[in-house]
Amino acid sequence: MKITLLSGGTGTPKLLQGLKKVVKEDNISVVVNTGEDTWVGDLYLSPDIDTVLYTLADMINEDTWYGVKGDTFITHETLKMYQCEGFSEFLRIGDRDRALKIHKTYFLRRGYPLSKVVDMERKLLNIKAKVFPMTDDKVETKILVEEEGEKILLKFHDFWIKRRGKAKVLDVFYENSQYAKGVEEALVSIEEAELVVIGPSNPITSIGPILSIRDIKRALKDKRVFVVSPIVGDRAVSGPAGVFMEAKGYPVNIYGIYKFYQDIVDTLIIDNRDNVEEKKRGIECKVVGADIILRNMEDKINLARRILEEYRKN
Ligand code: GDP
Repeated sequence: MKITLLSGGTGTPKLLQGLKKVVKEDNISVVVNTGEDTWVGDLYLSPDIDTVLYTLADMINEDTWYGVKGDTFITHETLKMYQCEGFSEFLRIGDRDRALKIHKTYFLRRGYPLSKVVDMERKLLNIKAKVFPMTDDKVETKILVEEEGEKILLKFHDFWIKRRGKAKVLDVFYENSQYAKGVEEALVSIEEAELVVIGPSNPITSIGPILSIRDIKRALKDKRVFVVSPIVGDRAVSGPAGVFMEAKGYPVNIYGIYKFYQDIVDTLIIDNRDNVEEKKRGIECKVVGADIILRNMEDKINLARRILEEYRKN
């Protein structure tokens, strides 16, 4: 059974760990957000892509969902000593993690499309699942904030890392997405999938950029799409999803998640403790309860199994 996931860099990778245990890995494809890609000094950073690669290669640092577990930071600390503006890194890049970023940068600078480089990397890391960036074009997620009465348009990292998410969010944009094309192999993986799963990811800054690409949205139109909620009750399980949903006019609850995905979702998977029977009212797709807080491998495998069980019911 072929499954394609749409992913950001924290929630869906957790589900991916479980799915990998219950589905043959060659049958899994992951289409990943690149709206947060950026340059740091001379390095190209594709944070969600790298997290998905490290997750599938069993190398991910699960404390941060960023970088390689057990990594060292000698280069980062040494660069700090040199105090060169051009090298100043607003986030800590580990040594082994840096090697993958250098690899990406090297080939991108020589004109390779990101999708080709990521495919090389997945093979180098012995990953059997397919991993595709959503696009080879530059689509950038921008956050409009208000600071001291002024409106400022920020890159995602300027908002989330440099300002630690502490600014009033007014809106979120996916710059350039109207001109961007979906990666061809990603589109084919969606067309060939028996099931598309939108894992528990931030709808606005992880999945929104992917859906903002017209041909990806179109490819999803007649597919069976399951969405796992990143919201339980009236809060995001982690991170700033709630703030972004509010800024875009969606209530921070299951109804907001449904509203965001209503064009494409067939089955919405919500937390068992989220009053499932009551929530079914007012939601026009199928609503299924499951344990969706993924603390350990057992939770992840159980959710993956639950998704497959639900798929086979129809
Ligand atoms: P990002 O790129 O780091 O923003 O990562 P994602 O968008 O993939 O994941 C972040 C979202 O995943 C947040 O909105 C969280 O609420 C959600 N999330 C994180 N862990 C879990 C979990 O264990 N269960 C569920 N249901 N959602 C989670």
